[in-house]
Amino acid sequence: MPTVLSHPAPVLALGAGLGFTRIPARLLLLAAFFSIVPDFDVLSLRLGIPYADIFGHRGLTHSLFFAVLAGCLGAGLAPLLHCRRVLAALLLFTAVACHIALDAATSGGQGVAAFWPFSSERFFLPWRPIRVSPISLHAFFSTRGVAVLLSELRWVWLPALGLVLFLRLWLALASKICKPHAACPSRLLAAAVCVGLCLLLTGKMQAEDRETFQFVEGDILFQSSSYGQGRAIQLATKSRYTHCGIVFKRNERLYVYEAINKMAWTSIENWIRRGDNGHYVLMRLKDRDRFLTAEKLAAMYAAGEELSSKTYDLLFQWTDDKIYCSELVWKIYARGAGIELAPLKKFQDYNLEAETVQLLIKQRYGQNFSLEERAVSPDDLLHSPLLEKVYGN
Ligand SMILES: [Zn+2]
Repeated sequence: MPTVLSHPAPVLALGAGLGFTRIPARLLLLAAFFSIVPDFDVLSLRLGIPYADIFGHRGLTHSLFFAVLAGCLGAGLAPLLHCRRVLAALLLFTAVACHIALDAATSGGQGVAAFWPFSSERFFLPWRPIRVSPISLHAFFSTRGVAVLLSELRWVWLPALGLVLFLRLWLALASKICKPHAACPSRLLAAAVCVGLCLLLTGKMQAEDRETFQFVEGDILFQSSSYGQGRAIQLATKSRYTHCGIVFKRNERLYVYEAINKMAWTSIENWIRRGDNGHYVLMRLKDRDRFLTAEKLAAMYAAGEELSSKTYDLLFQWTDDKIYCSELVWKIYARGAGIELAPLKKFQDYNLEAETVQLLIKQRYGQNFSLEERAVSPDDLLHSPLLEKVYGN
């Protein structure tokens, strides 16, 4: 989501552009409130409802149906708001609809269930320039929080300011109140120049934020995903990280090579977007340039290619018959560069008591579960003393 600070921007811009005579203050205040109401669904995460559930975050409260309900409520409350029913309905609908659109334009998390109850599918817009806001308050007061605010300044507040200017100009021209001696057009022009300058400035600051590091071959990316087995892995490894992949160059472009349902080459951007809230951690081999020579990297690439026909290993077995994500990364480093990133563990070393984990074990293994099976988890790799953290948002 964009932050709670930015969701009201579109309706506030409408209010500032059209003026209190057209949109009464009470109505505007209620619309601003309704622009953040859909995100009350984050409380569901506290109740243990998964993100992807329709009652989870960005579920039914992020549907056009919910926007229509808000509109109906507005129409009902119109007498109290001192405005026409149709205006109240339209503004409250717009407040929620804009919230949905802004969320769908963010870089992370899961999409919005815009067409519920007809479809529970989550959607994003094809263009997603807004940085997703961290859900936790702690993460918000970090460098990531600053990056999010900058992104919102550029992609939410500046366009909102543009809308105010446009509406004011339009109304001024329509009612021909802009007399030649009035300062109106020059003031508007000055404001438009300011908006342009801010766009340039925030654009530059954002670009700098992104360019503080570069991905290189051999980098390992970690992310968490609350889909399917993700929760069980989190519990078993006592870590939020459920998935990892390794960066390689292929056809002159950098990709994340990963084990998902099969071995896949995923663009770094798409890989990052898939994780919860777009959060990821980038780890790199310490003294990487010395250890990962071109020769070693080629051998690592070849070790990865050798496993490219394998499918995902739902049973997390250590044989090469099927492969899971952290196993892939571990084997590529071990076989290609002769580096064992983490000592192998056994299933019994993980926290298997949790109910969700027990259920998964029962479903997948039946009676054939061996506590002696060797394994390596994303969290084991993440805490490898051989790696150093380059970036984490
Ligand atoms: Zn939202």
